[in-house]
Amino acid sequence: MSHDKIHILGGGPAGLIAAYYAKQAGMPFQVYEASPFLGGNCRTFAHGDFLFDSGAHRFHDKDPEATALVKTLLGDSLRSVSAPSQIYHNGQFINFPLDALDVARKLSLKTVARIAGENLPGFKRKTNANPNFEEFATAKYGTSLASRFLLNYSEKLWGLSPDRLSPKISGNRLRGLSGGNLLLAALGRKVFESASIDGSFLYPEKGIGMICERLAEEIGEKHVRLRNPVQGLFVRNDRIQGIVLPNGEKISTEHVISTLPVTRMLKMLSPQPPESLLSAIRQIRFRQLRLIVLLLDLPQFSDNASIYFPESDIPWTRIYESTNRSSYMSPPGKTSIVIELPCFKGDEVWQMMDAEICQRIKQSLSDLGLLNGARVIESLSFRLSNAYPVLEHGIENIVAPVFDFLQEFSNLHLFGRSATFRYLHLHDLFREGRGLIEQLVSRLVK
Ligand SMILES: Cc1cc2nc3c(=O)[nH]c(=O)nc-3n(C[C@H](O)[C@H](O)[C@H](O)COP(=O)(O)OP(=O)(O)OC[C@H]3O[C@@H](n4cnc5c(N)ncnc54)[C@H](O)[C@@H]3O)c2cc1C
Repeated sequence: MSHDKIHILGGGPAGLIAAYYAKQAGMPFQVYEASPFLGGNCRTFAHGDFLFDSGAHRFHDKDPEATALVKTLLGDSLRSVSAPSQIYHNGQFINFPLDALDVARKLSLKTVARIAGENLPGFKRKTNANPNFEEFATAKYGTSLASRFLLNYSEKLWGLSPDRLSPKISGNRLRGLSGGNLLLAALGRKVFESASIDGSFLYPEKGIGMICERLAEEIGEKHVRLRNPVQGLFVRNDRIQGIVLPNGEKISTEHVISTLPVTRMLKMLSPQPPESLLSAIRQIRFRQLRLIVLLLDLPQFSDNASIYFPESDIPWTRIYESTNRSSYMSPPGKTSIVIELPCFKGDEVWQMMDAEICQRIKQSLSDLGLLNGARVIESLSFRLSNAYPVLEHGIENIVAPVFDFLQEFSNLHLFGRSATFRYLHLHDLFREGRGLIEQLVSRLVK
């Protein structure tokens, strides 16, 4: 039986960030990744001269240490990008985050008056102490605004009606949206000078995947085992004794950092956890994404970084155009768009054959007049597993006993989006990964 101090399960951004900090701290570690690739759900795909990401990604400058590290890793390849985003609503493109003046211009006077009326300054709607997303959004923005832009979009993205979702799904998406501002706009006053401060972000010139690629270079190949889906974890008392690899090899361990979905993690324990927990995790779900990529014989599809589609009769939630993040992403005179269709494993969208889903999406875009006669050079399709934890209203009561149980293992550390069942972004992973390794260093040197 071989021995390493820290075994890191999963080579997505969380696993690579943990490994990077472990290496910096001089701790022995090994990363195990199931697939032939590193980067998990944060990769850049190459097809001919085209590059595109696994869904619309941007690096948010929200944690100064994370930003400084990514700048050091990428040097001049990390660019500051300024590109707007919009919502497609009723055949119109509306700035996002919502810009009161723009909304006032693009919706009918009657609708704007209704929105403004529902958002009179000082007017407070009551909610209960523990609202679901529908109650939360309606109380905060009024029915007219919420039903147009928030409730339908959320239902499509998360696959549950908004009264079954937690307010936590909104993250920062609702920033910049204020009923009072809409009222001022309805009265004809200019409210926001610029469309959106959120239009600025950091982005690597050859795609978001460059961040994981640079981390992997720093970590070094010998510390990574690709095509190695960890099969099991054998436990004794309050410790993980070791991990089991597909070839049956057992490796003893001092610490395990798991970035795998918490549901998968729990099922891998040997001996098995109590039946009550195994039955609880059947209610813990992840949303998947089907990505359709259209390579276009067109210099630009729009000038947006992303376009959001809240309407329920359109099957996708978002389209992003790689070229508007970096000109390196497409050959000269051409562009590509990535269309995101949320789904659950096994449903019609997830299962549809590539050719059929690509054809359907092309047809729908064309029917909406969005392709504008552009020639589609090629269409491709990808599946992304475990893209989002489904934050159902009240899910914390179901996940809490699972995390309480796993916390009993003194050398098991859950880290990352699917492992902790939280809606985490890259800067969160850098911050939490740094903290986790600091904590392990202090424990291992004792
Ligand atoms: C569509 C989309 C858009 C996003 N946009 C942004 C954004 O704009 N900005 C931002 O900061 N973040 C964004 N994110 C979030 C960011 O990509 C995530 O934080 C990240 O992908 C989650 O990282 P992770 O390492 O926790 O999990 P994952 O990326 O899911 O990685 C888990 C890894 O574990 C591996 N694995 C699974 N089972 C096993 C096993 N048994 N043994 C070994 N390995 C295994 C998987 O193959 C995978 O590589 C976005 C995510 C998505 C899906």
